[in-house]
Amino acid sequence: MQSSRQPKQEPNREGYFGPYGGRFVPDPLNQILEEITRAYYQAKEDPTFKEELADLYRHYVGRPSPVFYAKNISKKLGGARIYFKREDLNHTGAHKINHCLGETLLARRMGKKKIIAETGAGQHGVALATAAALTGLECDVYMGEVDIKKEHPNVVRMKILGANVIPVGIGLRTLKEAVDAALKAYVQDPISQFYAIGSVVGPHPFPMMVRDFQQVVGEEAREQFLQMTGKLPDYLIACVGGGSNAIGLFTAFLDDEQVEMYGVEPSGRGFKDGDHAATLTLGKPGVIHGFRCYLLQDKEGKPLPVYSIASGLDYPGVGPQHSYLKDIGRVKYKTVSDREALDAFFALSRVEGIIPALESAHAAAFAMKIAALLENDKTILVNLSGRGDKDIDFIANKYGRHYGVDV
Ligand SMILES: *Cc1c(COP(=O)(O)O)cnc(C)c1O
Repeated sequence: MQSSRQPKQEPNREGYFGPYGGRFVPDPLNQILEEITRAYYQAKEDPTFKEELADLYRHYVGRPSPVFYAKNISKKLGGARIYFKREDLNHTGAHKINHCLGETLLARRMGKKKIIAETGAGQHGVALATAAALTGLECDVYMGEVDIKKEHPNVVRMKILGANVIPVGIGLRTLKEAVDAALKAYVQDPISQFYAIGSVVGPHPFPMMVRDFQQVVGEEAREQFLQMTGKLPDYLIACVGGGSNAIGLFTAFLDDEQVEMYGVEPSGRGFKDGDHAATLTLGKPGVIHGFRCYLLQDKEGKPLPVYSIASGLDYPGVGPQHSYLKDIGRVKYKTVSDREALDAFFALSRVEGIIPALESAHAAAFAMKIAALLENDKTILVNLSGRGDKDIDFIANKYGRHYGVDV
């Protein structure tokens, strides 16, 4: 699983990437997180754990996911060649199964009975409910009422898989409130429950651990891309909600200085407070959900409401490692609007026959934007983090007419 190269950045003992990360939690929880950290380091060195996970990646998830040269769209744009890492082809339809299996195997190894989580687009919830079914753990998923409506098929999937979906009706009733509710439930019984965080966020060790489970994406992609083209890609592009699919792709390339990396955040309806979730672009360092990161916050440091057409991207915080990568300039963070993401969603569907997740459409939109400006000897590798099945009804009903979809 681990390549011989060790390019990745490690957090320090307290879980900091530069000034970001750490553990801002009450003492009892701190002890539990310390136990999880220890258990994780042990598991990581245990060949049985690594083999079981590698075996599931291969035979259950369907890894390695292919890298696809999107010839049609590249020709149409007339610039750089665009390639997609097809995480949309994974079992459950997105990259999240990679870390859910890792977290669930760890929870089982630690003797936990129940795995709990929040979910935005429902992708983390479905992936976790899947992993829980496979490993025989109970599963509670907290989900904002707005997202429950918008992501109906995923709610049904979770229930079919045997998970309890717990609606959250406070605040904006989306991802942030779901995290609040899940954390509250977790603190009540951190002994028999395991909180499986859905991205590279939260207190240490989650940003590091979730990244480690996702780095398989970049390790595969690097090898596949070299084999296909004889070179490394010139650009890597991935959307950033909490940042797990992006860091999963980027990690294997961090030492390849010639590879430029872009994380894409949603500018939603515009740059006014509450209209976007462009955390790294417009946020300032602060603390949310037990860790320090760039944060969209008001004057008192309270998280601002956020919005994106892609439920999986609307979170006011972001992974601590991304916060650090921004400061040191290794990764650049850009924005894409709802409209641009929708255009890319339909372009990819109609020109390549791939219906992307709305989240991934943000990465594709930015790739299309820069491809057109580049020479055709340049290459761009985009992480296609998930498939769009979950989004089709919402898009067809709300925006279909504009794109000639009459339903
Ligand atoms: C959840 C999700 C995202 C955003 O999460 P990250 O942790 O930033 O990767 C992106 N794409 C898809 C398909 C998702 O389900």
